[in-house]
Amino acid sequence: MNLETPIKEIPKIGPFFLRKLQRMGIRKVKDILFHFPHRYENFSNIGPISKIQLNQTCCVLGKILEIRNSRTWKKKMLLTQALIEDKSGAIKAVWFNQPYLNKVLKKGDNVCFAGKVSLEKDGLYLSNPAYEKITSPQDLSNLTHTGRIVPVYPETEGLSSRWFRYILKPLLLTFKNKIPETLPQHIIDKFNLLPIEQAIWQIHFPDSLKLAEKARNRFSFEELFLIELFVLRERLRLRKEKAISIPPNIEITREFVKSLPFKLTNAQRKAAWQILKDLEKTNPMSRLLEGDVGSGKTVVSIIAALNVVKAGYQVAFMAPTEILAKQHFKEVSKLLKNFNVKIALLTGKEDKIISQKLFRSTSKGPIPEILEISRNKLLDKVRGKINPQTKKFNVGVDILIGTHSLIQNKVKFGKLALCVVDEQHRFGVEQRAKLTTKSNSYVSQDKEIRKIPHFLSMTATPIPRTLALTIYGDLDISILDEMPKGRKKIATKIILPQERKKIYKFIKERVKRKEQVFVICPRIESPKPEPENSKTQGKTDLPNTEPQASNNVTSWAEVKAVKEEYKKFSKEIFPDLKIAMLHGKMTPKEKEKTMEEFKRGKIDILISTSVVEVGIDVPKATVMVIEGAERFGLAQLYQLRGRVGRSNLQSYCLLFTDSKTGKTKQRLKAILKAKNGFELAQKDLEIRGPGSLYGVKQWGIPDLAMENLKNLPLVEKTREIANELLEKDPDLQNYPLLKKRLEGFEKRIHLE
Ligand code: ADP
Ligand code: MG
Repeated sequence: MNLETPIKEIPKIGPFFLRKLQRMGIRKVKDILFHFPHRYENFSNIGPISKIQLNQTCCVLGKILEIRNSRTWKKKMLLTQALIEDKSGAIKAVWFNQPYLNKVLKKGDNVCFAGKVSLEKDGLYLSNPAYEKITSPQDLSNLTHTGRIVPVYPETEGLSSRWFRYILKPLLLTFKNKIPETLPQHIIDKFNLLPIEQAIWQIHFPDSLKLAEKARNRFSFEELFLIELFVLRERLRLRKEKAISIPPNIEITREFVKSLPFKLTNAQRKAAWQILKDLEKTNPMSRLLEGDVGSGKTVVSIIAALNVVKAGYQVAFMAPTEILAKQHFKEVSKLLKNFNVKIALLTGKEDKIISQKLFRSTSKGPIPEILEISRNKLLDKVRGKINPQTKKFNVGVDILIGTHSLIQNKVKFGKLALCVVDEQHRFGVEQRAKLTTKSNSYVSQDKEIRKIPHFLSMTATPIPRTLALTIYGDLDISILDEMPKGRKKIATKIILPQERKKIYKFIKERVKRKEQVFVICPRIESPKPEPENSKTQGKTDLPNTEPQASNNVTSWAEVKAVKEEYKKFSKEIFPDLKIAMLHGKMTPKEKEKTMEEFKRGKIDILISTSVVEVGIDVPKATVMVIEGAERFGLAQLYQLRGRVGRSNLQSYCLLFTDSKTGKTKQRLKAILKAKNGFELAQKDLEIRGPGSLYGVKQWGIPDLAMENLKNLPLVEKTREIANELLEKDPDLQNYPLLKKRLEGFEKRIHLE
């Protein structure tokens, strides 16, 4: 047997347990060895029965005087009662619905009982204690379930902790000294970590709580360290790739900045400069531009795009949806109208829509000429060709804007040098592969080296520093931490249930002024009346409502749902207004259509889940109502609020909460004070844990390492040593085991 042996070869695991384990993802010996307890019971102090006290945890050692089964007359439950005696006294133990215990434990057996002490009218007793037969009372060192610190495993698939202990202890003994150490010795020494051999034993069967802690530290350190190695290697890998160097064009950049109807913020200048410096390099940029909604990311990316176009290359600009792509097309076309850039919009599902737009900025007039051409013609223009007269390679499109359809195989770029992707955290490995300039007809003629375009992702999701250093650690980050001047502050208020009528009146007034309203509900529809399962029944678009402590929020059944509110609004509250709804169960087409209509002012009130478009610009939307606000993460609320306040009109964000606890209100108040999204993301990280933040879940980071995603000093340390290690040995030739673990990582995450 080795670590890779399938668990079905472990003699004690029959088909019944095998299936359960497999459902938990436990397939190999190593999976079960690395299935860690989530807490411990301290049963290590075996004491005399006479010293037992109510409500305390105790562990006693004695002889069974009597054991028998009976039935409670009221509830018809099976009871097993035993009396245990030591030199100091005797006490009763009671178990419910475990009649087989009467067979396992016999009168006269030496046993250890451990558990909580309860009280009934006859006196103290042990309720449902852990039990263990003692074969040699002189030697207690081999106890598994009592008389020691006992591991408690997460109860999954009905597999009990007792069962795990029963399987794991002999298995750990079999594998004594056979589990290879993945961490380099010098790191173990430097950080005073437990070596694997001790750590794996101590995490399951610790000699003290301190050692258990040390063991957990070792494994979470290891996990963080692996993440760092992974992202840093990814970085190194990209650094070895080749890209087209775009020298910054200072003159045209100045001219462009001067042409803008506003002054760039310092943050925008700084970010633009960082990007231009990256573009000059001969290895591909991999940069994330992060900034609150409305901080002006688009214009920064246009500066980069303009530099690339003026150097004779192409830009692909991707948006998550067609509405956003159209919005960008308009904005980019408008801002670049005097710069003689050919901008095209690629829309529609494959082959369905044939008319595409091509914007040609001319020096003649300020009004751009919009050409509608067929898809094939557009694709030809994007691909480019050699001009027979000049023998020069020309492309007919400089900036191609669209959704992710841009990276479909059919779209071939002639001279692609930069990809901008909006509202996404990063480029996937696959996306990158698809866009390598091998397909660039011009570039590959030019040189036979594979070239990769520069990548710029943009997001309004704030990423706390620890995450920037770990799961986003392969990216360089530019931050727009400054808002353009003159923006009106969005008036934000926490609203209590009794103020609902007042708010509806307010909404009506706003709509009268031709302004528009968002109403965000935490879920799509109400659960069927099955209160027990209500939690899983209410469909929600929220990725992160789960980690909420349930006692802080109103019951899930009372939470407002889009479909019900839609009915109420359109039938009872505002029968004369135009109401529509938007949620994740609608088809992308339906969603687009609704959003488009809202944008064009044909809808007064949009009732939606949190799917409501990121980055969408609806200048007339001035009121954001959020129902059940306590159910959203702070950073998410902040972003939802950013959907309004996109013009010079005064905007409002109204946070409804029924929650009576002061703690919830306290949490919501953070929004009122926050200067930027970062602060709130940091708060979310502290209050709700890293799992509540976008992009963390797909890494499948074990719980015990998850906690460390808050620990900045540790994150910085592990990054530093991972860096040192890779500098000396970039291919990890001296650390084959580490390398192997990383390969496992690569399979798990795709970096998208
Ligand atoms: P986001 O960062 O959310 O993508 P946008 O790029 O869409 O923000 O910018 C929001 C609006 O602010 C746009 O209308 C844009 O023209 C405008 N804008 C960008 N930069 C500035 C600035 N420095 N001063 C004033 N308005 C700006
Ligand atoms: Mg944007």
